[in-house]
Amino acid sequence: MKQAGSIAIAIALIASSVWLYRHFSGDQRQSQDFPEGAHWLCLKCNQGFSLSLKEVNRWANSEPAAGYPCPKCKAVETTRAKKCPLPGCGKFYVERNLVIDDKVCCPVCKKPLP
Ligand SMILES: [Zn+2]
Ligand SMILES: [Zn+2]
Repeated sequence: MKQAGSIAIAIALIASSVWLYRHFSGDQRQSQDFPEGAHWLCLKCNQGFSLSLKEVNRWANSEPAAGYPCPKCKAVETTRAKKCPLPGCGKFYVERNLVIDDKVCCPVCKKPLP
C-alpha cells in the first residue's frame, strides 16, 4: 500500500509539471500574438509608446527597478498600457476595457473593439 501511495504522488508530480510546461509555453505563444510588441504609458507626461518584444526582453533582462524609460521625458514612472486599435482613436490607456452591451469597448472612445 505504501508503494501505491508514492506512485500516486509521482503521477501527481508529473501531471503538475506537464501542466506548468503547457502553462508557460502557452504564455510564450500568447506574446507572439502581439507583433507590434508591448504598449506603455508614461505617467509623468502621458506619452504612450510601443516597444518591440525584443526591446522589452532586453529591458527585462537588465533587471529593471522601475518601468521602461519614457522616450520623451526619460521618466521611469511608466506602466504597461493598452492601445485602442480603432482608426480615429489609437489612444493609449491603462484603464480596464469597458463592457457595453456585452461588447468589449475602448474606455477612451467607448466604441467596441474589433
Ligand atoms: Zn514621459
Ligand atoms: Zn478607442
